[in-house]
Amino acid sequence: MLTWNDIVKFATDGNPDPDFEVRKSEDEWRKQLAPEQFHVTRQHGTERPFSSGMCELFEPGKYACVCCDALLFDAGEKFDSGTGWPSFTQPAKENAISYHGDNTMGMTRIETLCNRCEAHLGHVFPDGPAPGGLRYCINAVALKKVEEIDAVATFGGGCYWCTEAFFRSVKGVSAVRSGFSDGEAANPTYKEVCTGKTGYAEVIQINYDPKVVSYGELLRIHMGTHDPTTLNAQGADIGTQYRSIILYRSDQERQIAEDLLEEISDTFDSKIVTVVRNFNKFYPAPEEHDDYYNRNPNQGYCQAVISPKIAKFRRTFQYLLSPDK
Ligand SMILES: [Zn+2]
Repeated sequence: MLTWNDIVKFATDGNPDPDFEVRKSEDEWRKQLAPEQFHVTRQHGTERPFSSGMCELFEPGKYACVCCDALLFDAGEKFDSGTGWPSFTQPAKENAISYHGDNTMGMTRIETLCNRCEAHLGHVFPDGPAPGGLRYCINAVALKKVEEIDAVATFGGGCYWCTEAFFRSVKGVSAVRSGFSDGEAANPTYKEVCTGKTGYAEVIQINYDPKVVSYGELLRIHMGTHDPTTLNAQGADIGTQYRSIILYRSDQERQIAEDLLEEISDTFDSKIVTVVRNFNKFYPAPEEHDDYYNRNPNQGYCQAVISPKIAKFRRTFQYLLSPDK
């Protein structure tokens, strides 16, 4: 639980890193957002108090950033402050929000931003309810209520152009992003990762509905669609960035991964060299890499390498494919 001391420390000494960053130009945000959303989130505006029905909304669920969908607050932490702005006592996660000193309007306050996309949300004050004592005073237009929360899985199995294309057609999968994980220095570039010297692996990050497809089923697809026995290589792609890797987020996921590797070990002629590690951080690849296969189906690499792999994948995992993809 965060306390006022933690908040002051973040605002003074620096904020925790977000899971990943979303950066867009002012023009791009303007296109994406309604005028009032743009004014509040990108221009540090404030909505009129009591202007939103969200203040009186106490149904269960979560509140996400209207700009980038980052989860910011749980409805369980929402309370009626009487101020006319939706109020919360704690963020959804310690690194969901960033804190900055704000000396405008003749006051010294602490401004709250979405830590992922730097959307202005509102301010935080030390006069909230016990035990944390915090009051996050948030503009309703900066938030959107979300009922169902996707789970997230991160795997690496060689070139992410291939692995990403498989998962996009799986039922219950709502988003797949290519990127880098399990490396050392912050903010690696694609070029740096290509050298094989950064320690990063090319991975995909999958958002999925666990009620439709399980973590274990996604793992089965992952293990069935790359060669987990070739160390730091997939086919002609050679380098540590192509290592076979499973990045778990809980002990339960680690157990599922270890059990599956054990179960399938006999089906391979050579030893499985898949690395099973605790998820740390994910950096999305440059946007032009996203959905590379579907946007470039006639490119040589896609034709030669990905298309045959996809055909095999569709035969093997027919039962897990989404009928409309
Ligand atoms: Zn955001």
